[in-house]
Amino acid sequence: MNRPYSRELSADTSTILIPLITLVAFVISIFYIAFNSEFVQSWPYWLIALIYPLTSYYAWHLVRKDQIERANLLFIVSSLIFLLLLISDKWVMGSPLPYVFGVFIIISSMTIHPNVSLLVWGVSAGLLVLVVSLANPTISRESLFSLITPILVNFFLAIAAYLSAYEWRFAVESINELHRKVRIRRNELFTIQEELQYKNAILQSLNQEIEKARSAAIEERDIRTRFMNMVSHELRTPLNSIVNFAHILSHGARGPVNEEQVDYLTRIQHSGWHLLGMLNDLLDMAQIQAGEFDLQLELTDLHEVCEAAIKHTSGLQFENKLAIQTNYPKMWPPVMADPMRLQQAIINLLGNAYKYTSEGYICLHVRVVEPWVHIGVEDSGIGIPPEHLERIFEEFHQINQSVARRRVGTGLGLPITKHLIEQHGGRISVKSQLGKGSFFTLSIPIWNPNKNETIEKLR
Ligand code: ADP
Repeated sequence: MNRPYSRELSADTSTILIPLITLVAFVISIFYIAFNSEFVQSWPYWLIALIYPLTSYYAWHLVRKDQIERANLLFIVSSLIFLLLLISDKWVMGSPLPYVFGVFIIISSMTIHPNVSLLVWGVSAGLLVLVVSLANPTISRESLFSLITPILVNFFLAIAAYLSAYEWRFAVESINELHRKVRIRRNELFTIQEELQYKNAILQSLNQEIEKARSAAIEERDIRTRFMNMVSHELRTPLNSIVNFAHILSHGARGPVNEEQVDYLTRIQHSGWHLLGMLNDLLDMAQIQAGEFDLQLELTDLHEVCEAAIKHTSGLQFENKLAIQTNYPKMWPPVMADPMRLQQAIINLLGNAYKYTSEGYICLHVRVVEPWVHIGVEDSGIGIPPEHLERIFEEFHQINQSVARRRVGTGLGLPITKHLIEQHGGRISVKSQLGKGSFFTLSIPIWNPNKNETIEKLR
Protein backbone atom coordinates (compact mmCIF):
# COMPACT_ATOMS: atom_id res chain seq x y z
CA MET A 1 0.00 0.00 0.00
CA ASN A 2 1.26 3.46 -0.82
CA ARG A 3 1.12 5.17 2.58
CA PRO A 4 1.29 9.01 2.39
CA TYR A 5 4.69 10.18 3.50
CA SER A 6 3.22 13.14 5.46
CA ARG A 7 1.42 10.59 7.65
CA GLU A 8 4.69 8.92 8.42
CA LEU A 9 6.18 12.27 9.35
CA SER A 10 3.13 12.97 11.58
CA ALA A 11 3.75 9.68 13.34
CA ASP A 12 7.43 10.53 13.83
CA THR A 13 6.58 14.01 15.13
CA SER A 14 3.98 12.62 17.53
CA THR A 15 6.38 10.00 18.86
CA ILE A 16 8.78 12.77 19.84
CA LEU A 17 6.40 15.59 20.85
CA ILE A 18 3.97 13.64 23.06
CA PRO A 19 6.63 12.41 25.53
CA LEU A 20 8.50 15.73 25.39
CA ILE A 21 5.51 17.94 26.23
CA THR A 22 4.35 15.45 28.86
CA LEU A 23 7.80 15.49 30.46
CA VAL A 24 7.85 19.30 30.56
CA ALA A 25 4.35 19.39 32.11
CA PHE A 26 5.35 16.66 34.59
CA VAL A 27 8.52 18.44 35.66
CA ILE A 28 6.71 21.78 36.12
CA SER A 29 4.00 20.04 38.16
CA ILE A 30 6.51 18.28 40.38
CA PHE A 31 8.32 21.58 41.02
CA TYR A 32 5.05 23.29 41.87
CA ILE A 33 4.03 20.48 44.22
CA ALA A 34 7.46 20.53 45.86
CA PHE A 35 7.29 24.26 46.62
CA ASN A 36 3.60 24.32 47.71
CA SER A 37 3.06 22.00 50.64
CA GLU A 38 -0.69 22.52 50.70
CA PHE A 39 -2.44 19.75 48.84
CA VAL A 40 -5.64 21.75 48.31
CA GLN A 41 -3.76 24.45 46.50
CA SER A 42 -1.80 22.13 44.25
CA TRP A 43 -4.42 19.49 43.40
CA PRO A 44 -4.49 20.30 39.61
CA TYR A 45 -0.72 19.75 39.55
CA TRP A 46 -1.15 16.43 41.28
CA LEU A 47 -3.61 15.47 38.57
CA ILE A 48 -1.18 16.55 35.84
CA ALA A 49 1.72 14.70 37.44
CA LEU A 50 -0.29 11.49 37.88
CA ILE A 51 -2.87 11.26 35.07
CA TYR A 52 -1.37 13.31 32.23
CA PRO A 53 1.58 10.85 31.81
CA LEU A 54 -0.91 7.96 31.69
CA THR A 55 -3.08 9.49 28.95
CA SER A 56 0.04 10.55 27.07
CA TYR A 57 1.48 7.06 27.33
CA TYR A 58 -1.74 5.62 25.95
CA ALA A 59 -1.67 8.18 23.09
CA TRP A 60 1.95 7.32 22.40
CA HIS A 61 1.01 3.65 22.39
CA LEU A 62 -1.74 4.37 19.81
CA VAL A 63 0.82 6.13 17.60
CA ARG A 64 2.95 3.01 17.68
CA LYS A 65 -0.11 1.04 16.59
CA ASP A 66 -0.49 3.42 13.65
CA GLN A 67 -3.64 5.08 14.98
CA ILE A 68 -2.07 8.50 14.64
CA GLU A 69 -5.22 10.65 14.41
CA ARG A 70 -6.88 9.01 17.43
CA ALA A 71 -3.67 9.23 19.42
CA ASN A 72 -3.19 12.91 18.73
CA LEU A 73 -6.83 13.70 19.34
CA LEU A 74 -6.55 12.03 22.74
CA PHE A 75 -3.34 13.87 23.53
CA ILE A 76 -4.68 17.28 22.44
CA VAL A 77 -8.00 16.83 24.31
CA SER A 78 -6.32 15.69 27.51
CA SER A 79 -3.78 18.53 27.24
CA LEU A 80 -6.59 21.08 26.75
CA ILE A 81 -8.49 19.67 29.73
CA PHE A 82 -5.47 19.90 32.02
CA LEU A 83 -4.64 23.35 30.78
CA LEU A 84 -8.23 24.50 31.41
CA LEU A 85 -8.04 22.95 34.89
CA LEU A 86 -4.95 25.02 35.64
CA ILE A 87 -6.56 28.15 34.23
CA SER A 88 -9.78 27.66 36.20
CA ASP A 89 -7.83 27.12 39.38
CA LYS A 90 -5.27 29.86 39.07
CA TRP A 91 -6.76 32.50 36.88
CA VAL A 92 -5.24 35.95 37.30
CA MET A 93 -5.53 38.72 34.81
CA GLY A 94 -2.66 38.75 32.32
CA SER A 95 -1.73 35.09 32.99
CA PRO A 96 0.37 33.62 30.12
CA LEU A 97 -1.48 30.26 30.36
CA PRO A 98 -4.01 30.98 27.52
CA TYR A 99 -1.08 31.40 25.12
CA VAL A 100 -0.12 27.78 25.76
CA PHE A 101 -3.16 26.77 23.67
CA GLY A 102 -1.10 27.97 20.70
CA VAL A 103 1.28 25.03 21.21
CA PHE A 104 -1.56 22.53 20.83
CA ILE A 105 -3.07 24.41 17.91
CA ILE A 106 0.23 24.01 16.05
CA ILE A 107 0.68 20.38 17.06
CA SER A 108 -2.88 19.50 15.99
CA SER A 109 -2.38 21.08 12.54
CA MET A 110 0.80 19.08 12.01
CA THR A 111 -0.19 15.74 13.45
CA ILE A 112 -3.96 15.44 12.81
CA HIS A 113 -5.01 17.68 9.91
CA PRO A 114 -4.47 21.35 8.93
CA ASN A 115 -8.20 22.10 9.45
CA VAL A 116 -8.08 20.82 13.03
CA SER A 117 -5.96 23.83 14.04
CA LEU A 118 -8.98 26.12 13.54
CA LEU A 119 -11.23 23.69 15.39
CA VAL A 120 -8.83 23.47 18.33
CA TRP A 121 -8.62 27.25 18.37
CA GLY A 122 -12.44 27.63 18.40
CA VAL A 123 -12.97 25.01 21.10
CA SER A 124 -10.12 26.30 23.25
CA ALA A 125 -11.28 29.92 22.94
CA GLY A 126 -14.87 29.05 23.85
CA LEU A 127 -13.88 26.82 26.75
CA LEU A 128 -11.39 29.42 27.96
CA VAL A 129 -14.05 32.09 28.25
CA LEU A 130 -16.52 29.60 29.77
CA VAL A 131 -14.08 28.18 32.29
CA VAL A 132 -12.76 31.58 33.34
CA SER A 133 -16.25 33.01 33.82
CA LEU A 134 -17.54 29.88 35.63
CA ALA A 135 -14.54 29.58 37.92
CA ASN A 136 -14.66 33.29 38.79
CA PRO A 137 -18.32 34.32 38.95
CA THR A 138 -17.36 37.76 40.24
CA ILE A 139 -14.92 38.41 37.43
CA SER A 140 -14.97 41.92 36.04
CA ARG A 141 -15.75 42.65 32.42
CA GLU A 142 -12.35 44.23 32.02
CA SER A 143 -10.66 41.07 33.21
CA LEU A 144 -12.72 39.03 30.74
CA PHE A 145 -11.74 41.39 27.92
CA SER A 146 -8.11 40.73 28.69
CA LEU A 147 -8.67 37.27 27.23
CA ILE A 148 -9.24 38.78 23.78
CA THR A 149 -5.50 39.29 23.19
CA PRO A 150 -4.47 35.64 23.70
CA ILE A 151 -7.55 34.48 21.79
CA LEU A 152 -6.62 36.74 18.86
CA VAL A 153 -2.95 35.71 19.00
CA ASN A 154 -4.05 32.07 19.01
CA PHE A 155 -6.37 32.75 16.09
CA PHE A 156 -3.55 34.15 13.97
CA LEU A 157 -1.41 31.25 15.08
CA ALA A 158 -4.19 28.85 13.99
CA ILE A 159 -4.43 30.54 10.58
CA ALA A 160 -0.64 30.44 10.15
CA ALA A 161 -0.51 26.81 11.31
CA TYR A 162 -3.37 25.93 8.97
CA LEU A 163 -1.66 27.49 5.93
CA SER A 164 1.81 26.23 6.67
CA ALA A 165 0.53 22.72 7.48
CA TYR A 166 -1.12 22.61 4.04
CA GLU A 167 2.05 23.87 2.39
CA TRP A 168 4.10 21.46 4.39
CA ARG A 169 1.88 18.52 3.44
CA PHE A 170 1.99 19.53 -0.20
CA ALA A 171 5.78 19.88 -0.17
CA VAL A 172 6.23 16.61 1.66
CA GLU A 173 3.94 14.76 -0.75
CA SER A 174 5.72 16.31 -3.76
CA ILE A 175 9.06 15.23 -2.38
CA ASN A 176 7.60 11.83 -1.66
CA GLU A 177 6.32 11.58 -5.22
CA LEU A 178 9.76 12.53 -6.52
CA HIS A 179 11.29 9.99 -4.23
CA ARG A 180 8.87 7.36 -5.54
CA LYS A 181 9.83 8.19 -9.13
CA VAL A 182 13.51 8.03 -8.24
CA ARG A 183 12.91 4.60 -6.71
CA ILE A 184 11.14 3.45 -9.87
CA ARG A 185 13.99 4.78 -12.01
CA ARG A 186 16.51 3.12 -9.76
CA ASN A 187 14.69 -0.18 -10.10
CA GLU A 188 14.60 0.28 -13.87
CA LEU A 189 18.32 0.99 -13.81
CA PHE A 190 18.91 -2.16 -11.79
CA THR A 191 16.93 -4.11 -14.38
CA ILE A 192 18.91 -2.52 -17.20
CA GLN A 193 22.11 -3.28 -15.36
CA GLU A 194 21.08 -6.92 -15.03
CA GLU A 195 20.19 -7.03 -18.71
CA LEU A 196 23.54 -5.48 -19.52
CA GLN A 197 25.33 -8.09 -17.47
CA TYR A 198 23.37 -10.77 -19.28
CA LYS A 199 24.16 -9.23 -22.68
CA ASN A 200 27.78 -8.88 -21.61
CA ALA A 201 27.91 -12.57 -20.88
CA ILE A 202 26.42 -13.29 -24.32
CA LEU A 203 28.92 -10.89 -25.86
CA GLN A 204 31.78 -12.66 -24.15
CA SER A 205 30.65 -16.02 -25.43
CA LEU A 206 30.18 -14.50 -28.90
CA ASN A 207 33.66 -13.03 -28.64
CA GLN A 208 35.04 -16.44 -27.89
CA GLU A 209 33.23 -17.82 -30.91
CA ILE A 210 34.56 -14.97 -33.04
CA GLU A 211 38.04 -15.70 -31.77
CA LYS A 212 37.59 -19.35 -32.76
CA ALA A 213 36.24 -18.33 -36.17
CA ARG A 214 39.14 -15.92 -36.60
CA SER A 215 41.69 -18.64 -35.89
CA ALA A 216 39.84 -20.91 -38.33
CA ALA A 217 39.84 -18.10 -40.92
CA ILE A 218 43.57 -17.51 -40.46
CA GLU A 219 44.20 -21.20 -40.91
CA GLU A 220 41.97 -21.22 -43.99
CA ARG A 221 43.74 -18.16 -45.37
CA ASP A 222 47.12 -19.85 -44.94
CA ILE A 223 45.82 -22.91 -46.78
CA ARG A 224 44.42 -20.67 -49.54
CA THR A 225 47.67 -18.71 -49.85
CA ARG A 226 49.62 -21.93 -50.15
CA PHE A 227 47.10 -23.15 -52.75
CA MET A 228 47.32 -19.87 -54.69
CA ASN A 229 51.10 -19.96 -54.69
CA MET A 230 51.00 -23.52 -55.89
CA VAL A 231 48.43 -22.75 -58.62
CA SER A 232 50.30 -19.65 -59.68
CA HIS A 233 53.54 -21.58 -59.98
CA GLU A 234 52.03 -24.66 -61.59
CA LEU A 235 50.06 -22.68 -64.19
CA ARG A 236 52.44 -19.85 -64.91
CA THR A 237 55.48 -22.02 -65.54
CA PRO A 238 53.94 -24.14 -68.35
CA LEU A 239 52.10 -21.11 -69.77
CA ASN A 240 55.35 -19.14 -69.97
CA SER A 241 56.99 -22.13 -71.66
CA ILE A 242 54.15 -22.33 -74.21
CA VAL A 243 54.37 -18.62 -75.01
CA ASN A 244 58.16 -18.62 -75.20
CA PHE A 245 58.43 -21.79 -77.32
CA ALA A 246 55.73 -20.49 -79.68
CA HIS A 247 57.72 -17.26 -79.99
CA ILE A 248 60.98 -19.13 -80.69
CA LEU A 249 59.31 -21.43 -83.26
CA SER A 250 57.50 -18.56 -85.00
CA HIS A 251 60.85 -16.82 -85.55
CA GLY A 252 62.23 -19.93 -87.29
CA ALA A 253 64.81 -20.68 -84.62
CA ARG A 254 64.19 -24.41 -84.97
CA GLY A 255 63.82 -24.70 -88.71
CA PRO A 256 61.81 -22.90 -91.38
CA VAL A 257 58.07 -22.24 -90.78
CA ASN A 258 55.55 -21.22 -93.45
CA GLU A 259 53.14 -18.28 -93.15
CA GLU A 260 50.24 -20.38 -91.97
CA GLN A 261 52.40 -21.92 -89.22
CA VAL A 262 53.59 -18.45 -88.13
CA ASP A 263 49.96 -17.38 -87.90
CA TYR A 264 49.07 -20.36 -85.68
CA LEU A 265 52.13 -19.85 -83.49
CA THR A 266 51.30 -16.13 -83.05
CA ARG A 267 47.76 -17.07 -82.02
CA ILE A 268 49.18 -19.51 -79.48
CA GLN A 269 51.32 -16.67 -78.09
CA HIS A 270 48.38 -14.25 -77.85
CA SER A 271 46.18 -16.80 -76.16
CA GLY A 272 49.01 -17.57 -73.74
CA TRP A 273 49.48 -13.89 -72.88
CA HIS A 274 45.76 -13.52 -72.44
CA LEU A 275 45.64 -16.51 -70.11
CA LEU A 276 48.62 -15.15 -68.15
CA GLY A 277 46.84 -11.80 -67.82
CA MET A 278 43.68 -13.47 -66.54
CA LEU A 279 45.67 -15.63 -64.14
CA ASN A 280 47.44 -12.54 -62.77
CA ASP A 281 44.09 -10.75 -62.31
CA LEU A 282 42.64 -13.71 -60.42
CA LEU A 283 45.70 -13.95 -58.17
CA ASP A 284 45.64 -10.18 -57.50
CA MET A 285 41.96 -10.33 -56.59
CA ALA A 286 42.56 -13.29 -54.30
CA GLN A 287 45.31 -11.34 -52.56
CA ILE A 288 43.09 -8.26 -52.20
CA GLN A 289 40.28 -10.29 -50.69
CA ALA A 290 42.68 -11.96 -48.28
CA GLY A 291 43.93 -8.52 -47.21
CA GLU A 292 47.44 -9.45 -48.27
CA PHE A 293 47.87 -6.88 -50.99
CA ASP A 294 50.85 -4.72 -50.03
CA LEU A 295 52.45 -1.84 -51.90
CA GLN A 296 56.18 -1.19 -52.15
CA LEU A 297 56.05 2.59 -51.86
CA GLU A 298 58.87 4.77 -53.11
CA LEU A 299 59.33 8.22 -54.55
CA THR A 300 58.23 7.58 -58.12
CA ASP A 301 58.82 9.28 -61.47
CA LEU A 302 55.28 9.41 -62.86
CA HIS A 303 56.49 10.28 -66.35
CA GLU A 304 58.52 7.09 -66.50
CA VAL A 305 55.54 5.05 -65.28
CA CYS A 306 53.22 6.54 -67.93
CA GLU A 307 55.70 5.94 -70.74
CA ALA A 308 56.29 2.34 -69.60
CA ALA A 309 52.53 1.72 -69.54
CA ILE A 310 52.11 3.12 -73.07
CA LYS A 311 55.02 1.01 -74.32
CA HIS A 312 53.65 -2.12 -72.71
CA THR A 313 50.12 -1.59 -74.09
CA SER A 314 51.35 -0.79 -77.59
CA GLY A 315 53.29 -4.06 -77.55
CA LEU A 316 50.05 -6.01 -76.94
CA GLN A 317 48.27 -7.09 -80.06
CA PHE A 318 44.81 -5.55 -80.31
CA GLU A 319 42.64 -5.68 -83.43
CA ASN A 320 42.86 -1.93 -83.88
CA LYS A 321 46.14 -0.14 -84.39
CA LEU A 322 45.31 3.16 -82.69
CA ALA A 323 48.29 5.20 -81.55
CA ILE A 324 48.04 6.56 -78.03
CA GLN A 325 48.06 10.35 -77.85
CA THR A 326 49.46 12.08 -74.77
CA ASN A 327 48.59 15.28 -72.98
CA TYR A 328 51.29 15.77 -70.36
CA PRO A 329 51.99 18.63 -67.90
CA LYS A 330 55.08 20.83 -68.19
CA MET A 331 56.24 19.89 -64.69
CA TRP A 332 55.84 16.36 -63.38
CA PRO A 333 54.96 16.22 -59.70
CA PRO A 334 56.62 13.71 -57.36
CA VAL A 335 54.38 10.91 -56.13
CA MET A 336 54.81 8.34 -53.39
CA ALA A 337 53.78 5.15 -55.16
CA ASP A 338 54.48 1.55 -56.01
CA PRO A 339 55.71 2.05 -59.63
CA MET A 340 54.82 -1.45 -60.79
CA ARG A 341 51.30 -1.34 -59.34
CA LEU A 342 50.66 2.20 -60.63
CA GLN A 343 51.81 1.10 -64.04
CA GLN A 344 49.48 -1.91 -63.81
CA ALA A 345 46.54 0.41 -63.07
CA ILE A 346 47.29 2.62 -66.08
CA ILE A 347 47.82 -0.45 -68.29
CA ASN A 348 44.39 -1.77 -67.22
CA LEU A 349 42.71 1.47 -68.33
CA LEU A 350 44.69 1.71 -71.58
CA GLY A 351 44.00 -1.98 -72.28
CA ASN A 352 40.26 -1.38 -71.79
CA ALA A 353 40.41 1.68 -74.04
CA TYR A 354 41.95 -0.48 -76.79
CA LYS A 355 39.46 -3.27 -76.17
CA TYR A 356 36.40 -1.06 -76.45
CA THR A 357 37.51 1.38 -79.15
CA SER A 358 37.56 0.37 -82.79
CA GLU A 359 38.23 3.77 -84.32
CA GLY A 360 38.98 7.33 -83.27
CA TYR A 361 41.55 7.99 -80.62
CA ILE A 362 42.95 7.02 -77.24
CA CYS A 363 44.62 9.69 -75.13
CA LEU A 364 46.57 9.60 -71.89
CA HIS A 365 46.14 12.87 -69.97
CA VAL A 366 48.19 13.91 -66.95
CA ARG A 367 46.99 17.05 -65.17
CA VAL A 368 48.18 18.62 -61.94
CA VAL A 369 45.59 20.19 -59.63
CA GLU A 370 47.28 20.61 -56.25
CA PRO A 371 47.28 18.51 -54.09
CA TRP A 372 46.30 15.92 -56.68
CA VAL A 373 47.67 14.62 -59.93
CA HIS A 374 44.97 13.29 -62.27
CA ILE A 375 45.89 10.55 -64.74
CA GLY A 376 43.13 10.28 -67.33
CA VAL A 377 42.55 7.71 -70.08
CA GLU A 378 40.18 8.96 -72.76
CA ASP A 379 38.83 6.97 -75.68
CA SER A 380 36.30 7.41 -78.44
CA GLY A 381 34.96 3.86 -78.04
CA ILE A 382 31.60 2.28 -77.38
CA GLY A 383 31.02 4.10 -74.07
CA ILE A 384 29.24 2.78 -71.01
CA PRO A 385 25.48 2.93 -70.32
CA PRO A 386 24.82 5.33 -67.35
CA GLU A 387 23.20 2.62 -65.21
CA HIS A 388 26.46 0.64 -65.31
CA LEU A 389 28.83 3.48 -64.43
CA GLU A 390 28.90 2.66 -60.71
CA ARG A 391 28.73 -1.10 -61.08
CA ILE A 392 31.68 -1.61 -63.44
CA PHE A 393 33.93 -1.28 -60.37
CA GLU A 394 32.29 -4.32 -58.79
CA GLU A 395 34.02 -7.66 -59.17
CA PHE A 396 33.11 -9.67 -62.25
CA HIS A 397 30.66 -7.02 -63.45
CA GLN A 398 30.61 -6.94 -67.23
CA ILE A 399 28.19 -5.12 -69.47
CA ASN A 400 26.08 -7.25 -71.72
CA GLN A 401 26.70 -5.23 -74.87
CA SER A 402 27.09 -6.95 -78.20
CA VAL A 403 30.44 -5.23 -78.87
CA ALA A 404 31.70 -5.69 -75.34
CA ARG A 405 30.72 -9.34 -75.37
CA ARG A 406 33.14 -10.05 -78.17
CA ARG A 407 36.06 -8.78 -76.03
CA VAL A 408 37.09 -11.46 -73.63
CA GLY A 409 37.87 -10.32 -70.10
CA THR A 410 37.52 -11.36 -66.47
CA GLY A 411 35.58 -8.38 -65.19
CA LEU A 412 38.34 -7.92 -62.59
CA GLY A 413 40.45 -5.21 -64.26
CA LEU A 414 38.53 -2.21 -62.90
CA PRO A 415 37.97 -3.53 -59.35
CA ILE A 416 41.70 -4.28 -59.09
CA THR A 417 42.56 -0.84 -60.47
CA LYS A 418 40.19 0.80 -57.99
CA HIS A 419 41.77 -1.07 -55.10
CA LEU A 420 45.30 -0.24 -56.29
CA ILE A 421 44.51 3.47 -56.48
CA GLU A 422 42.72 3.55 -53.14
CA GLN A 423 45.76 1.86 -51.58
CA HIS A 424 47.72 4.86 -52.85
CA GLY A 425 45.34 7.20 -51.03
CA GLY A 426 43.63 8.11 -54.28
CA ARG A 427 40.38 7.48 -56.11
CA ILE A 428 39.07 6.46 -59.49
CA SER A 429 36.22 8.08 -61.42
CA VAL A 430 34.62 7.73 -64.83
CA LYS A 431 32.60 9.79 -67.26
CA SER A 432 31.15 8.19 -70.32
CA GLN A 433 28.66 8.69 -73.12
CA LEU A 434 27.17 5.69 -74.83
CA GLY A 435 28.48 5.40 -78.37
CA LYS A 436 30.84 8.37 -77.94
CA GLY A 437 33.56 7.25 -75.57
CA SER A 438 34.79 7.09 -71.98
CA PHE A 439 37.09 9.06 -69.72
CA PHE A 440 38.56 7.22 -66.73
CA THR A 441 40.52 9.26 -64.18
CA LEU A 442 42.94 8.05 -61.53
CA SER A 443 43.63 10.74 -58.92
CA ILE A 444 46.54 10.28 -56.55
CA PRO A 445 48.00 12.73 -54.02
CA ILE A 446 51.16 14.60 -54.90
CA TRP A 447 53.93 13.86 -52.43
CA ASN A 448 54.56 16.75 -50.08
CA PRO A 449 58.04 16.59 -48.44
CA ASN A 450 57.14 19.29 -45.88
CA LYS A 451 54.18 17.43 -44.55
CA ASN A 452 56.10 14.16 -44.66
CA GLU A 453 52.79 12.47 -45.31
CA THR A 454 52.51 8.76 -45.22
CA ILE A 455 50.07 6.85 -47.37
CA GLU A 456 48.16 5.89 -44.22
CA LYS A 457 47.42 9.54 -43.52
CA LEU A 458 46.41 10.22 -47.09
CA ARG A 459 43.69 7.58 -46.98
P1 ADP B 1 36.95 -6.67 -68.43
O1 ADP B 1 38.02 -7.66 -68.17
O2 ADP B 1 35.65 -7.26 -68.79
O3 ADP B 1 37.39 -5.56 -69.32
P2 ADP B 1 36.93 -4.62 -66.43
O4 ADP B 1 36.73 -4.71 -64.96
O5 ADP B 1 38.20 -4.04 -66.89
O6 ADP B 1 36.67 -6.07 -66.98
O7 ADP B 1 35.74 -3.80 -67.02
C1 ADP B 1 34.43 -4.07 -66.63
C2 ADP B 1 33.46 -3.70 -67.74
O8 ADP B 1 33.46 -2.27 -67.89
C3 ADP B 1 33.85 -4.23 -69.07
O9 ADP B 1 33.33 -5.52 -69.24
C4 ADP B 1 33.24 -3.23 -70.02
O10 ADP B 1 31.92 -3.57 -70.31
C5 ADP B 1 33.26 -1.92 -69.25
N1 ADP B 1 34.39 -1.06 -69.67
C6 ADP B 1 35.57 -0.89 -69.06
N2 ADP B 1 36.33 0.01 -69.69
C7 ADP B 1 35.62 0.44 -70.75
C8 ADP B 1 35.84 1.41 -71.81
N3 ADP B 1 37.00 2.08 -71.92
N4 ADP B 1 34.86 1.57 -72.72
C9 ADP B 1 33.71 0.90 -72.64
N5 ADP B 1 33.42 -0.02 -71.67
C10 ADP B 1 34.37 -0.25 -70.75
